[in-house]
Amino acid sequence: MLAKEIQLEVDRGTMLPLMEEFYTIQGEGAYTGTAAYFVRIGGCDVGCHWCDVKESWNADLHPPTKIKDIVANVKKYAQTVVVTGGEPLMWDMNPMTQLFKENEIRVHIETSGAYPVSGTWDWFCLSPKKTKMPVEEAYAFADELKIIVYNKHDFSFAEEQAARVGQNTVLFLQPEWSKRDEMIPLIVDYVMQNPKWKISLQTHKYLNIP
Ligand code: SF4
Repeated sequence: MLAKEIQLEVDRGTMLPLMEEFYTIQGEGAYTGTAAYFVRIGGCDVGCHWCDVKESWNADLHPPTKIKDIVANVKKYAQTVVVTGGEPLMWDMNPMTQLFKENEIRVHIETSGAYPVSGTWDWFCLSPKKTKMPVEEAYAFADELKIIVYNKHDFSFAEEQAARVGQNTVLFLQPEWSKRDEMIPLIVDYVMQNPKWKISLQTHKYLNIP
């Protein structure tokens, strides 16, 4: 395909920069411990200094891939897909999520919410970042709010964000991996005093799986 044709398909969301895809066990959040196929889309300008997938940031490093090929791969392995990044909402997610639905695949997203919401989602995990805050509309979509706790100021950020989501949104505090020894005791105390929150751990890292 010509570069111009590829760009058109990417603009339409019928091709997406695919960084990696793998079948694994979900390590964090509401679906911890359950099998899912992960599709990691390249491109992110949110700029979290502790980001553990910095290689996702430059979308140009990841090959534009036809969504029908992505969906066909998922279908071979799983009934649930988690679309993550990078920041997947930088791209138009409508065509890919529609194709997943046509194939009866359950579709989850992990997003910072920093871009307008596209796509149809069975589960929307919103993980706001201070460096590039969610767009207003993202809060109403959140089935799950996941706040990464890097320092103790993140508890007040967590409360500000929780005040913006719906009453049924499941609330998680998750220690940033490199600060986990320091933050876990604070999170444990906080959740006992504020039981609307739950603890999320990156169990995939403890299990040594992707
Ligand atoms: Fe990394 Fe996610 Fe932050 Fe983007 S939003 S910089 S991918 S942690």
